[in-house]
Amino acid sequence: MTEVLFKVLIIGDPTVGKTSFVHRYVNNLFRRDYKMTIGVDFALKVIKWSDSQNIKLQLWDIAGQERFTSMTRVYYKDAHACIVMFDLTHRPTFQNTVKWKEDLDQKCTLQDGTSVPCLLLANKSDLSNREVDQSEIEEVCKEHDFVGWTEISVKEGLMVDEAMRFLVEEMMAKHSTLDDFSESLRLSSSPTIRPSAQDKPQQSGCKC
Ligand code: GDP
Ligand code: MG
Repeated sequence: MTEVLFKVLIIGDPTVGKTSFVHRYVNNLFRRDYKMTIGVDFALKVIKWSDSQNIKLQLWDIAGQERFTSMTRVYYKDAHACIVMFDLTHRPTFQNTVKWKEDLDQKCTLQDGTSVPCLLLANKSDLSNREVDQSEIEEVCKEHDFVGWTEISVKEGLMVDEAMRFLVEEMMAKHSTLDDFSESLRLSSSPTIRPSAQDKPQQSGCKC
């Protein structure tokens, strides 16, 4: 059995639904009342990708109020993929997706110099008071080099698994083309000794 570990960032303005998204994806639950995230929350999800392949996803749910500060560089470090989320019913959160994406790309690239695969998610599709058109989302997606976009409803559980599956496929595609990517990520299922700081393998995610 081979295992890979991917670090996935969830970024975007406060209250767009990032914490709810992680909770829905990992535990398949929705609650109305998450405490505001302070700093960063972590969650781990293990996926059985095939008979011989497990994928561990480490989800980093970053507090929106940290945006565009020097702190984000620390969070972005070694990321393999990213979700930028906004709230379809609150236009400023859509406009800020461009800033989030630029902040990420400025501070972080993969080992081969390419940008971190980034998916744009339009949350709260269950609500009718939309402030953003699909054509606008499409345009931002193309112009700012997102790997794709979709509407989701974390509340109703719509397109959450599908979105993550798409992102995992993107990461797996990179994983098989970048040699160092696969080498440093392939975790043995037998016990291993953690390397010391000096002989630590080269990180394959964002090299910032
Ligand atoms: P975060 O600040 O981005 O982590 O956002 P939260 O996950 O804390 O969610 C903010 C608010 O939006 C909460 O009241 C959630 O219940 C609500 N929310 C999250 N996702 C959805 C959704 O898909 N539909 C609706 N109607 N509300 C949602
Ligand atoms: Mg939160």
